Amino acid sequence: MPIADEWHSALALTGTSNLEPSEVHQRLLALTEQAVAILSAEAFDVEQARQIGARVAQLGYVQPEALGATLDVLGQQLHQLATANESSGPRLLKLLSGIATGFSEQARATARTEAEAARQRLGFLAEVSTQVAASLDLRTTLERVARAAVPVLADWCTLNIADPTGALQTETTAHVNPVQEELAKTMRQTYPRRQESGRSPAVQVLESGATRIIANVDDRLLEQISVDADHLQMWKALAPRAVMIVPLVAHGRSLGTMSLIMTDDSGRSYAPADRALAEDVGRRAAMAVENAQLYTQTEQAVRARDEFLSVAAHELKTPVTSLRGFAQLTLRTLNQNGQIDVERLKRALKVVDQQSDKLTRLVAQLLDVSRVQSGKLALDRQDVDLSALLVDLVASIRTQSDKHELRAVIPPEMRAKVDPLRIEQVLTNLLDNAIKYSPDGGAVDVELSSSNDDPASVVISVRDRGIGIHAEDRERIFERFYQADVGSYHGAGMGLGLYISREIVDLHGGQIRAEFPEDGGSRFVVTLPRR
Ligand code: ADP
Repeated sequence: MPIADEWHSALALTGTSNLEPSEVHQRLLALTEQAVAILSAEAFDVEQARQIGARVAQLGYVQPEALGATLDVLGQQLHQLATANESSGPRLLKLLSGIATGFSEQARATARTEAEAARQRLGFLAEVSTQVAASLDLRTTLERVARAAVPVLADWCTLNIADPTGALQTETTAHVNPVQEELAKTMRQTYPRRQESGRSPAVQVLESGATRIIANVDDRLLEQISVDADHLQMWKALAPRAVMIVPLVAHGRSLGTMSLIMTDDSGRSYAPADRALAEDVGRRAAMAVENAQLYTQTEQAVRARDEFLSVAAHELKTPVTSLRGFAQLTLRTLNQNGQIDVERLKRALKVVDQQSDKLTRLVAQLLDVSRVQSGKLALDRQDVDLSALLVDLVASIRTQSDKHELRAVIPPEMRAKVDPLRIEQVLTNLLDNAIKYSPDGGAVDVELSSSNDDPASVVISVRDRGIGIHAEDRERIFERFYQADVGSYHGAGMGLGLYISREIVDLHGGQIRAEFPEDGGSRFVVTLPRR
């Protein structure tokens, strides 16, 4: 077996090199030739002998066993080659001792460099941690992470965060070169991510949660991710060369991505060690992003609660004021002449009845919310004829408004196993809203039918032609305390009805959703399983 082969096999038993095996083999072949040349040269060159040792260590085989293997193989093989030559014994010893010295020096130097690199990485991570922990504001946090990553990890770094719909938005861009940074930002403003067709590498990383390294960014990739010729031009001017995209994952959730980019200007690329470091930064950034998002949500929740308290106080006060007013008025009339006008008394008592009913319902809603939150909202399911329930309900709502035309399509009988009081509560809420949010009157359609998609379910829909719901509010109307246009629409309640309704329908194993017909108004659709 040729010397280089045997040497390679012996080294391979002691560890691995970062280089391809064929490359290692090539280099060992050259070193073997060098060793033979040293032995047969006229004057012994100790420096060259040391270099052989140093090169072995530079291949990545730095452990003492690698030196042992080297001395062993070279000692035996070169000894056999050189037995013909009398003076070769002492020379071979000198060669091996030179190799040992060179190897040890290089191994020590490598260890020092690695320790220094590790120290720098730790320092860098500590710096990132301090930076991201210093603020609870999402933008500030992201800006700091991006700035910290440049130039240690990248020439150009962008941080992208998934919005509530799951789409990636570029939030921050940092570049070693301020001019290029401007160009990168302009490119993102002109071509926002959402306009990009197909799935960009960043979107793939967000979905898979796995880091991706693109070692060689070529024109084909740039063409793929460009929207048009100008976009491609910008990409080319920015000259990305190598890219590493790290997911920002906190508690198992992908919150966004960090793109680390090396450009043609620096000519740097990514080594395997960079990946672990980048992922570490990604994890820290993700925790900070999660904290900032939670903080924002908490702030919103506190604001919503405060708004709710003032709305609830106002809502409760209105019927109380009205109750007091009529009670006082009646008392005054009584006091003046001791007589009472029966008609007036009837009217006053009717108002008292209505307002106490309203008060009772508001208090019941508040109690329901606390039941939902403590998980104590329970159902009393019975076999119920939903047709009869709905007919009665529509009749009672009809008496409350003469501006609205209630049109009902209800089959003679349709039974389901539900809690009748709770389902009545849901439907009353939907019908009340339909009336309340169509102040100019108009038709309200109520329909009960079998589900087309699932014969084991029934569908109840309530459609009005009222003020409708703005697109930006649609997502949130089922949230607790949520009211579209708080305060601006007189007659809105506490923003609890739909929240409680959804909880009740969920408990039944059904679904409630809102639809927004093209010709205005709203349609609420409840689907309930029959059993
Ligand atoms: P509220 O007691 O305020 O009516 P809900 O939970 O029943 O509370 O409704 C939440 C919000 O959804 C309302 O404040 C209103 O903005 C909107 N909304 C509900 N139903 C309708 C509807 N039929 N038409 C227009 N907006 C509606």
